Parts: sequence; structure tokens; C-alpha cells
Amino acid sequence: MSTVNTVRGPIDSSEIGTTLMHEHLFAHNPELEQNLPHPEWDEEVMIEKARKSLTSLHEDKGIDTFVDLTVLGLGRYLPTVQKVAEGLPLNIVVATGYYTAKDLPTFFHTHAPDGLVGKTLGGRDPLEVMFIDDIVKGIPGTDGVKAGIIKVVTDEHGMTADVQRVFTAAARAQAETGVPISTHTNVAFANGREQQKWFRSNGVDLERTVIGHCGDSTDLDYLKELMDNGSTIGLDRFGMEFVLDDDSRIDTLVALLEQGYAERITISHDAGFFSINTPPSFRAKHVPNWHHHRISDHILPEIRKRGATEQQITQMMVINPVRVLTGDAAATAAVAAKALGAGVS
Ligand SMILES: [Zn+2]
Repeated sequence: MSTVNTVRGPIDSSEIGTTLMHEHLFAHNPELEQNLPHPEWDEEVMIEKARKSLTSLHEDKGIDTFVDLTVLGLGRYLPTVQKVAEGLPLNIVVATGYYTAKDLPTFFHTHAPDGLVGKTLGGRDPLEVMFIDDIVKGIPGTDGVKAGIIKVVTDEHGMTADVQRVFTAAARAQAETGVPISTHTNVAFANGREQQKWFRSNGVDLERTVIGHCGDSTDLDYLKELMDNGSTIGLDRFGMEFVLDDDSRIDTLVALLEQGYAERITISHDAGFFSINTPPSFRAKHVPNWHHHRISDHILPEIRKRGATEQQITQMMVINPVRVLTGDAAATAAVAAKALGAGVS
């Protein structure tokens, strides 16, 4: 496959361009917000804020594609994303998957293939059906917007029974559709190892996985192990300084580039315009550097000063995203030839 699904339809691998691989627009908890509205959520204002910022991200910073990994469990709601994407000079890729570190809602228990309701219905796990339909048929209520990536999570509880169901559904959807799997990990538990072990023993090609939140770690051996095993890693929380300061994140990135790992790294922010969990006023006051312009404004200039080359930056921000999103070696090679050719001039 050499096209990638975006909110406004499929684009060719040559149009993906400079990409932020792990971001968010809006993270919600719909049930909570129906009963406890958040004073900082105003849909029109937030849509406008996102459109303005993303337009600037493209026009001033040269970002072409923004991957929104907001899935179920984080309040994914495509109609709002579509309003943001309308007429925008930047591509938005959306995800399917389920964000849970421990349990799924009761619905998925009663509707499991062997569950109270599920066994009366027969058929596949509704999680798996949902992931595949989101990628192949389109996300309900959107007139056919298709997901371009799958998101899964492990954290402090590890591979719980429900998390394994999510991983199983993701593995099957990956095998059937070819789209990549991107993960959440917790640095304290070095979850990348258990994720790779699970992927390997369940037939998922590690080349089609991005192990996320790796930039929270300063353990180079751990990070190199994940990459040597075939995964791409996400140093994807630049600006999220309550977990780790950017100076340390930069040290890790520079060290890995010096050791020749540019082909296995993507960089991003995991930032968002609204999250019920860490609302905009909190972020503005306590984590002011955590926004979608941080890499362009601060991280790239800093790593350039420390010897990172334009080729390495192009590799991480253009070529690796194309390889991960398409899984197409020929298309990736074509993009690389063009991008690196232009970079060397
Ligand atoms: Zn995220």
C-alpha cells in the first residue's frame, strides 16, 4: 500500500511530507462531560484555535501531516476533527484502537465472543470488527473517513486480559489491513519489552510497530534494544516536562543519532489543544513548552547545534513516517531519494 488514509481521504506516499507521528487534537470523557461540563471546552473556540495553530504549523514550520492518536477511551469524536480538517493546508491522519491500561467497558465483556450476549450472536470480537471497519469501511458517522493507524496501550498493570484483547484485535486488524500499530508505554515499567514480546509471539511484524513514549526514557540500552529488534521508537513527548525535561530528551536523541539510529526514530509531542485530564489553563501555566510548535521552534535548532544533520532530521520526520504509515519499501525509497536529494543540494 502506498497511500495513507487521512480525514479528507487517501493521499499518496509522496504527499505525506514532514510528519508529527504522535499528537492529539481533543481528548474527552463524553459521559463525564455530559454530566460535569468542563468550563474550558467550547467547541467553536477550540476548533478555531486548532485550525489557526495547525495552519501556522504548516505555513511557518513546514509540517505537512499530523497523526492524531486519539482513540476510544480518549473520547475520539470524528465530527469535530472533520471540522478542524476542512480546507486545512495540512493532512490529519486519525487512528482506531482502544486506550485502556487495564479494563474494557462492560459492553465488551457481555459482547465478547464467549460473553453473555456475544455467545448468542456468534461471530468475531466486536473490538476486532470495529478496528477493521474503521480502517476499511470508515468510521461511523463520517461518510467514510478511514483510520490510518492503530493505537494500543500497556502501562503499570501490564498485559491484563482486557489489554490482551485489545492487542489481539489490533494484531488481526494489522494483518488484515496493513496499517501500523502505535503504542503507549510507561517509562517506569519499560513496557516496550512486554509489547515486543507479545507482538513477536502473536505474529506481528515488529517493523510495523512504533513503540511510543520512548523519549521519557534515558536508558539508551533499552531504547537500542527496541530498535535493534525492528521497531521504530517514538521520542514523542517533547515539551512534556513534568515527565522529563527537554534537555534530557535532547541528550537522548542526540546520543542515539550519534550511534546511527536515525532510521528507527520518530519525533513528536503528544500535545493537544484540549484535554479534560490536563486542561489548557493547567498546561499553559505549568507545562508551557508542551505544544505542537516545540520541535520546530526549539528541539530542531538545539539538535542542529549539537551536530544533527539535515539528513537525519529528514529521516526522522519524513522518511520514517512514510515507511511506518505505508509499509511500502519501494514508495519509501522513492520518497527518500527525493527528500535526501533535495536536502543535500
Ligand atoms: Zn498520546
